Amino acid sequence: MLNVSEIRKDFPILQREVNGKPLVYLDNAATAQTPQQVIDVIVDYYQRLNANIHRGVHTLSQEATDAYEAARKKIQAHFNIAHAHEVIFTSGTTDGINLVANGFTGLLRQGDELLVSAMEHHSNIVPWQMLCERTGAVLKVIPMNEEGELVMERFDALLSPKTKLVFCNHISNALGTINPIAEIIEKAHGAGAAVLVDGAQAAPHLVADVQALDVDFYTVSAHKICGPTGVGMLYGKEKWLKKLPPYQGGGEMIAEVTFEKTTYADLPHKFEAGTPNICGGIAFGAALDYMNALGFGAIAQYEQELLHYATQKLLEIEGLKIYGTAVEKTSVISFNIQGIHPYDIGTILDKLGIAVRTGHHCAQPIMDFYKIPGTVRASFSFYNTKEEVDALVEGVKRAKDMLL
Ligand SMILES: *Cc1c(COP(=O)(O)O)cnc(C)c1O
Repeated sequence: MLNVSEIRKDFPILQREVNGKPLVYLDNAATAQTPQQVIDVIVDYYQRLNANIHRGVHTLSQEATDAYEAARKKIQAHFNIAHAHEVIFTSGTTDGINLVANGFTGLLRQGDELLVSAMEHHSNIVPWQMLCERTGAVLKVIPMNEEGELVMERFDALLSPKTKLVFCNHISNALGTINPIAEIIEKAHGAGAAVLVDGAQAAPHLVADVQALDVDFYTVSAHKICGPTGVGMLYGKEKWLKKLPPYQGGGEMIAEVTFEKTTYADLPHKFEAGTPNICGGIAFGAALDYMNALGFGAIAQYEQELLHYATQKLLEIEGLKIYGTAVEKTSVISFNIQGIHPYDIGTILDKLGIAVRTGHHCAQPIMDFYKIPGTVRASFSFYNTKEEVDALVEGVKRAKDMLL
């Protein structure tokens, strides 16, 4: 059981007002708030540790390097990753996917096929389209149904010896659907294809065990799990990371440089050119500590309660339709009210201090599927309360009265 009123005290931002009203923050799928414990680590880094890593003989550089590498080990342990060198620090999920998509340029041929799910974030679509343009490979889509679930029979039918890569999110940021990634990975491997799972939206709600899943690549952004923006991780199986060429050239990623020939550093440094987000990486580790201390089991249970309560309350509003009604889903509710543009609802909610996201949520193909311009999305975290759900429901009712 979570003690939510105590937990809320960890988040200074939750005490602030917006437009003269207490902030009700329901945009957690876009970014989660940062607890004081993580803010303290960020402040401490600049007050005590700030130095460049992996190169200095001096004490500060050693201490900063130790803290950064300790964070890598925390990430390794959290996702049950076999080797610390399979954890690549990135600037976030988008960066991790681009790294992999670039790496596959030399490994694909004209006519190879890549399968993408119909409910991806643009960051798990566009880099692959660019890869297809470079290589002549073909992108095919695993369709979804009205409920926002992947049509697995169609996936089975699309898989063939031509399939080289499959990519799918673990949880959809626009619909909340939890995808059957274990099944997708097993079947893709059966056809000889590698799998990249975008874990950005799953990481706040559950713990992925990359070895049990046998996934080839898994990406995460720290800012969705109470960490800072601009840092994330890419997990890659050692065999793939060895096969892929470096992404960016620069300092830190080399073994030896001459003007005739440069040799590359070992993993993970081969993929970590330049000075990384050192403070961010350390704070990422602190964010995982914070969430693990609460416990992902308790977090998931509480968020499911909020999801069911909010779903029930919102559906009492006449004309309100929820998009994404999968059996397996997390605490994300995308909805519209018939005859009202989502942006107008979002604007009125903001006047009431309630932060939701409106628009296509970087997943325009989903909106095209439902033939809508976008949705209002309320996404709940472990620090949200039933009172905040009530405020949302009252706010939506008020918006409806004003706009219809
Ligand atoms: C947030 C999100 C991303 C993008 O993450 P960035 O931190 O912006 O790189 C990708 N996929 C999903 C499912 C997301 O929720």
